[in-house]
Amino acid sequence: MLYRRYGKDGPLVSVLGFGAMRLPLRAGGDYGRVNYTRATEVIRRALHAGVNFIDTHHRYHEGHSEEAVGRALKGWKGPRVYLQTKTPFYDDKPAAHFERMLYEALEKLGVAQIDYLLFHSVRMDRWKKRGRRFLKFSDWALRKGLIVRRGFSSHDTPENVKTYIDTGAFSAALMSYNWLNRRMADTIAYAADRGMGVSVMNPLGGGSLAAATPKILGLLPGARSAPEVALRYVLATPGVTVAFSGMSDLAQVDENARLASRPQGMTPAQWKAMNVRLAAIERKGLAVCTSCGYCMPCPHGVSIPVNFMLYNRARFLDMTEWAGERFEALRKHAEGDRSALACRKCGACLPKCPARVPIVRQLERTAAMLTRR
Ligand code: SF4
Ligand code: SF4
Repeated sequence: MLYRRYGKDGPLVSVLGFGAMRLPLRAGGDYGRVNYTRATEVIRRALHAGVNFIDTHHRYHEGHSEEAVGRALKGWKGPRVYLQTKTPFYDDKPAAHFERMLYEALEKLGVAQIDYLLFHSVRMDRWKKRGRRFLKFSDWALRKGLIVRRGFSSHDTPENVKTYIDTGAFSAALMSYNWLNRRMADTIAYAADRGMGVSVMNPLGGGSLAAATPKILGLLPGARSAPEVALRYVLATPGVTVAFSGMSDLAQVDENARLASRPQGMTPAQWKAMNVRLAAIERKGLAVCTSCGYCMPCPHGVSIPVNFMLYNRARFLDMTEWAGERFEALRKHAEGDRSALACRKCGACLPKCPARVPIVRQLERTAAMLTRR
């Protein structure tokens, strides 16, 4: 396992982190019913492979993730494990509510201190409303010694994330990033240049980049699997300290740990060549849809950018099976059909699209390509 320093004054952490949001579940597959025995096996396997950093959240697995991590760590005699958890500080609740949550987290995790407490999913509206209060709350937790450092996680725009970084108040940031979603690349480097530890969530696109299509494997010649392409790319990105992978079984742990132990993830020539290939894919994709969402909402319920994301992955990456499954799920959405098939061709979306995507025609093509017969 390789290790990197998490920020200028942070600990040495494994480049592969354990994301405790896709733990094994009990029969029935209910997200809140973690199979603690299997979760312990999977987490322990990662620890034995050298992983020493775990990311969780007060609410992952409906509040049971922290407990699962705590159970796995109970009696652990190996090297020190660092813990990062997140608090839903956007909830409009008084400080006492979050104090209670923090004490509960400490108890569930079985530790006296949390290494990193993150303001979960910061956005500008949340920041304006709750940012100062979070800093005050985390100052209190720091003074009490309940947390060691604070940070934030965010899916916000690169510009807004830089605003949070520029406060200088945070030691760590968690951002979504992978080879198909590179918009945070500059922001990651920006944070690292300012001494922050940067962790990445969704390095495999939540599993969507795990399909070993020839096009995906062709992005990094020599790679033996799609997770290899994804992890090596993320870990080679300037500024990234650690990639948190949500691992559910022992095979995933073994594969990821093997990849995170390669002394050199990518050579400069491989890095350059893969970026050229990605830019070519993005050029084709961007000509169609940038997922800006300006065309939404559709009065007939079509999730336009999601349909085009699936269409583009099927077209450009040969992920037809993966996209077809998700298209089917859109069709059967609990609140009504969200797929391209629900388009009534009213044209209301057309003038709103800055990329001048021929939305109606593209939706027809999407439906023709992804509808399961
Ligand atoms: S044309 Fe189709 S996708 Fe666009 S707004 Fe109308 S129903 Fe929705
Ligand atoms: S407005 Fe155009 S580019 Fe933006 S999400 Fe809709 S279709 Fe895509």
